[in-house]
Amino acid sequence: MQPTLYEFDVIVVGAGHAGTEAASAAARMGAEVALLTTNLDTVGQMSCNPAIGGVAKGHLVREIDALGGLMGVAIDRTGIQFRMLNCRKGPAMHSPRAQADKKAYQAEIKFLLEQQERLALRQEVVEEILTEGSGPDRRVTGVAVKGGATYRAPSVILTTGTFLQAIMHTGESKIKGGRAGEGTTRGISHCLTQLGFELERFKTGTPPRLNARTIDFSKTEEQPGDDPPAPFSFLSDDFKLDQIPCYITYTNEAVHQLIRDNLHRAPMYSGAIQSNGPRYCPSIEDKVVRFSEKNQHQLFLEPEGRRTLEIYVNGISTSLPRDVQDSFFKLIPGLENAEIMRYGYAVEYDYCPPHQLRSSLETKTIQGLFLAGQINGTTGYEEAGAQGLIAGVNAALSLQHKPPMILRRDEAYIGVLIDDLVTNSVDEPYRMFTSRAEYRLQLRQDNADRRLTPKAQEMGLIPVERWERLQSKLTAIEKATEFVRKNRVEMDPLEKLLRRPDFTWAQACSHFPELETISHEVSQQVEYDTKYSGYISRQATQIERQKRLADKKIPATFDFTAIQQLRTEAREKLSRVQPDTLDQASRVSGITPADIALVMAHLQRGTPTPDANSQKTKATG
Ligand code: FAD
Repeated sequence: MQPTLYEFDVIVVGAGHAGTEAASAAARMGAEVALLTTNLDTVGQMSCNPAIGGVAKGHLVREIDALGGLMGVAIDRTGIQFRMLNCRKGPAMHSPRAQADKKAYQAEIKFLLEQQERLALRQEVVEEILTEGSGPDRRVTGVAVKGGATYRAPSVILTTGTFLQAIMHTGESKIKGGRAGEGTTRGISHCLTQLGFELERFKTGTPPRLNARTIDFSKTEEQPGDDPPAPFSFLSDDFKLDQIPCYITYTNEAVHQLIRDNLHRAPMYSGAIQSNGPRYCPSIEDKVVRFSEKNQHQLFLEPEGRRTLEIYVNGISTSLPRDVQDSFFKLIPGLENAEIMRYGYAVEYDYCPPHQLRSSLETKTIQGLFLAGQINGTTGYEEAGAQGLIAGVNAALSLQHKPPMILRRDEAYIGVLIDDLVTNSVDEPYRMFTSRAEYRLQLRQDNADRRLTPKAQEMGLIPVERWERLQSKLTAIEKATEFVRKNRVEMDPLEKLLRRPDFTWAQACSHFPELETISHEVSQQVEYDTKYSGYISRQATQIERQKRLADKKIPATFDFTAIQQLRTEAREKLSRVQPDTLDQASRVSGITPADIALVMAHLQRGTPTPDANSQKTKATG
């Protein structure tokens, strides 16, 4: 019997957050795409937190949306609570976050894919990556799936997430699988190793889910959504929805003691798990050990949807045994009688260290093979979606024999993300932070469309509606900017007044009522452009100056721990390596250009040495 053969331009393996964006982007650009995934009922599934966005992750979603991606549209249609985080800080730090109706979100993503021309969404388990040629001429030709069929294509994008040789741990129990209720994938790991790829292991974890009927919310603090809520997508108008509150409670000393007493049963501490987990999403057992001085930790009780009572307990990710999970909730206010619907667990999986990739996300050794998402050592839906979109675009561009789309670090958080991955690789699961972006004043979430939609237009990634919307917004911004430049309040130019931190657009409107008709999305751009123009041009000069100093020597006594603003991770790594030059420092894995800029600034000011610090202490003390 002849094996069944299907022909496509691009094959995407896995319909998680990376795969769905990859397939959609490639199809929007005209490629015939097959999106193959183990289970059509888990397309776009949120393995962990039922939420989209958050600090810096919200920026990624806005950028995905500006490039015509799915995530922003889907969360706007299915979110249950929207909040803008970090509102008390400057606009570069504002980050949108939404609680999702997990099932509705998944269904929406699937529905968007089903409507996409040229995209075939199919339930298939991919078992083998097919290649031809050898050495530098080796290229991908397709994949083989369980049951004997073959899919052929000149480009294959692997987005298999946490599923490669995955093992789930809850206390002493170990089950093969990449997500509760699902299996694992062996064949792809085997193929990647055979093809010469280096694979490593990471772990991540998830908290227990509770039944809201058994929670006493009167003992917790309510956390409402923003009023009015702000949407993620630049396409969403008249954004109104019935928001559902989240609630906050806290752990306490009794909980911490119970955890300490059972640490030997936690896989991370018993030695059952050896791999690194996400530093920024520590398990509760990690928090109790690493932050032993804290006598409580905040827990957010987050609904998983409108038509379910399941509550995700954000902040208590754990792989402790079931009996410990049962016991610690009895000690937490409001959760004394809570029933666990799903127990927390940790998962260990293979990933492919991303130094093996080009900036296009194509592998360095196999032509036409792209990797995106958690398989590259990242964590998070947004990081995965962003990589997926770029891999999809570049797979489509390679078919058109065009150079890849590579976003620079000063153009997008997506550029920062991919540059960090391919330049520094990863030694712990990578998540995005605003501190990783050295040009963050330019890379605000509010201006993602102005930065990126023109590129999307050039690539053929967006429908005409998005382009026309941007054009009319740009015209309105130009008109309003002109008004600001030309008008004065008494003797003071309005532009000069708007540059003052305490002078708002609302105040401008009180002097010029005609400005009130300008929409918020337009006035916000005019206000921020005006207010931060000085900072932004200073930042550009500063970057140039910093480049010239890249070879500056770092004295052997330089004390990185004395640089307060440096991220803890950077302080630890630089202190461990103690590089001789800034150039060397910039190559230390995990050290970002933002960290280097800080070290450079301190070098210019004078070397912080342990001696200098003690003198400072004496002088001020
Ligand atoms: P996924 O969303 O995992 O999608 C992979 C897809 O590939 C799935 O649809 C799968 O069915 C499919 N697939 C796999 N193998 C095959 C095959 N052989 N053939 C066909 N299809 C295949 N992120 C955080 O930011 N914070 C957290 O706290 C966090 N905790 C997590 C806890 C757990 C238990 C898990 C499992 C994940 C957690 N994550 C967390 C990670 C988050 O789920 C991922 O970052 C995100 O889902 C990655 O998206 P992805 O598209 O790369 O992979």
